[in-house]
Amino acid sequence: MTRLGGALPMAVLGLAMALAAGCAREPPVHSRQFLAFGTLVEVTIYGGEEQRARQAIDAVEQEFHYMHRTWHAWRPGALGRVNALLATTEWFSVAPSVRPLIVRASELSAASGGLFNPAIGRLVELWGFHQDERPAGPPPDPRQIAELLEQAPGMGDLELDGIRLRSRNPAVRLDFGAFAKGYGIDRTIELLRQRGIENAIINAGGDLRAIGRHGERPWRIGVRDPRGPGILASLEVEGDESVFTSGDYERYFEYGGVRYHHILDPRTGQPARGVTSVTVIHDEGAAADAAATALFVAGVEHWRDIARAMGIKFVMLVDASGQVYMNPAMAGRIRFEGEEPPPVTVTEAL
Ligand code: AMP
Ligand code: MG
Repeated sequence: MTRLGGALPMAVLGLAMALAAGCAREPPVHSRQFLAFGTLVEVTIYGGEEQRARQAIDAVEQEFHYMHRTWHAWRPGALGRVNALLATTEWFSVAPSVRPLIVRASELSAASGGLFNPAIGRLVELWGFHQDERPAGPPPDPRQIAELLEQAPGMGDLELDGIRLRSRNPAVRLDFGAFAKGYGIDRTIELLRQRGIENAIINAGGDLRAIGRHGERPWRIGVRDPRGPGILASLEVEGDESVFTSGDYERYFEYGGVRYHHILDPRTGQPARGVTSVTVIHDEGAAADAAATALFVAGVEHWRDIARAMGIKFVMLVDASGQVYMNPAMAGRIRFEGEEPPPVTVTEAL
């Protein structure tokens, strides 16, 4: 399996899908699964004509494979070329397939106060996450981390002038693993809409965007239990909404009894501590994806400030002890699925 970002184990996706697809009482539901972005993607279209749905799903699948190749963080491709040229600090023509991601990622990074920072590709690589296999450890040499932190790569180092791009900082390497899935889902939902499809869900390893309804009822979505095999909670989406979760269980290694996971705090160069998962609901998938990562880094103390700054209205955060934090709007939508609900703190409104 190849990866661009994180992935949820298939079993959990299966659960999520079981909830999303529901008991298929009302046909027809057109659906297909394929691998992209290192995870299982499922496209489901509710209602409509079979052939039209199949053609639309073909288009979505092709687009996913294209995006996967083009935005891959460590395989040769359009982003790989951009990264090699950024290191020179000279001007170059940026690929049109990469440019819009740079623009949106820069906005989201600024809004997150740099906690979502896709310019830290070298740091992600240093930790061993630029490979398909799970890294074996040990954690990187602290001096190498310190050196990178000193250079402080950020999206603000990039200068875009039409199709010309350069980095003022030679340490910038782009890794869109924290938001490409969201961006890609937005793009493919758009593709469905252009084909007149109004009721659909695109689910990539449990991260998804839904439009319309599942027949008479809304789409039901499962949120994975960060420390168990099943589902922690469920929620309903209707209209046009994205649900994205960042978790420390997606990619990690253990070394000397410590778990080192893939969501890095750009301020310390270390895996962000204290949180096991963050779930965000938002209309735009790219922003939901970036925000889930940024709020994970922000942690128990600061997630609300960053959510406000990013315009996010629904958040659920699970800390390392299993304590759940939610803003009231999110609490109104979450239903816990286990026999014993976890301890929950409902915070002040966002
Ligand atoms: P996600 O699962 O969406 O939280 O994305 C995690 C992935 O994004 C990691 O595998 C890295 O490739 C990358 N990443 C890690 N930390 C950050 C960060 N603070 N900002 C942006 N991207 C990050
Ligand atoms: Mg993310």
